[in-house]
Amino acid sequence: MALIAILAGDGIGPEVTHEARRVLEALGLDLTFEDGLVGGAAYRKTSHPLPPETLDLAHRADAILFGAVGDPDMDGLERSVRPEQAILGLRKELGLFANIRPATMLPGLEDSSALRPEIARAIDMVIVRELTGDVYFGEKSRGFTHTGLREAHDMMRYDEVEIARIVRVGFEMAARRSRKLTSVDKANVLETSQLWREIVNEIARDYAEVKLTHMYVDNAAMQLVRNPGAFDVIVTSNLFGDILSDQASMCVGSIGMLPSASLNDWQGSCGLYEPIHGSAPDIAGQGKANPCAAILSAALLLRHSLSDYASAERIENAVKAAIAGGARTVDLGGALTTAQMGDAVLAALK
Ligand code: NAD
Repeated sequence: MALIAILAGDGIGPEVTHEARRVLEALGLDLTFEDGLVGGAAYRKTSHPLPPETLDLAHRADAILFGAVGDPDMDGLERSVRPEQAILGLRKELGLFANIRPATMLPGLEDSSALRPEIARAIDMVIVRELTGDVYFGEKSRGFTHTGLREAHDMMRYDEVEIARIVRVGFEMAARRSRKLTSVDKANVLETSQLWREIVNEIARDYAEVKLTHMYVDNAAMQLVRNPGAFDVIVTSNLFGDILSDQASMCVGSIGMLPSASLNDWQGSCGLYEPIHGSAPDIAGQGKANPCAAILSAALLLRHSLSDYASAERIENAVKAAIAGGARTVDLGGALTTAQMGDAVLAALK
């Protein structure tokens, strides 16, 4: 029996996670679920966004299904107890350095893409993003220049081990897909990117079957809208991956369609699975959230943490069939509520 920790969090997190759980339950697998408090919801009850009980559950669980954290009412809190610290803390605590973000155009959704349908139709890529380094975790400071101007700095740093392990995940992923890997950096300007490129070239010797391309991040952003079908697997650092994957989400229709997996290894013995979107306070509590990203995250959970490939595919095919059958939430130009979209996926599962 596998234990799934459900950390639903804030805003639309509980709404979309509920639908993903219903889909997992409908598969009739040997799973148990345990709920934990996280984010603003946890802060309200315990004065901390990631209480020790939640951390303990995360360690005990075979996998974590995560909703979203973030609450505008808490924007004024000190940084260390803001809801968003919960997800950063979980990534750090569980060593979840590899973020896998598939972006695939589902047939029927072409008109929801920000791109022309004939360009959008070809999108089928995976972005592999480093998750525990870079400017997000480097030293930060605020101060004043010697002339009294306010100044701030965020340190961008990587060591070779941190780079090598994420790059290997990229190569492994590419080796299992169409054997094309694009490594995205800014080696013409950044020292960290030059080290990144050096390590990528060293590891490439172990993967002769994978065709490697290096691309500067500004060019990658341009190519993602010009010819996204040319990408298969992209591997990149934390900051660049954060931006490129949100860009990719608009290319496939809606941020409400994109799942992600955060792993501590290529085949994650521990994994956290979440939609790439946030808590969407603007639509929370209105039944407008698209649950597909959360449901597809449950499929990634089955594939990466439980090695249940058949059930993962069943879920992905059910989402595909629901979309092909015309099921659409508001973000996709339709009128279905969150629960009705969940129903449509469940109906397609049967
Ligand atoms: P967001 O992803 O929450 O929302 C961006 C836009 O997309 C909004 O207009 C929202 O309504 C829409 N949207 C998002 N998910 C949707 C869905 N499933 N269906 C339909 N529409 C959807 O990003 P934001 O507004 O920048 O951030 C809101 C809060 O979420 C902030 O507090 C932020 O820090 C937090 N956040 C958390 C995570 C996380 O938990 N991993 C990730 C990103 C942002």
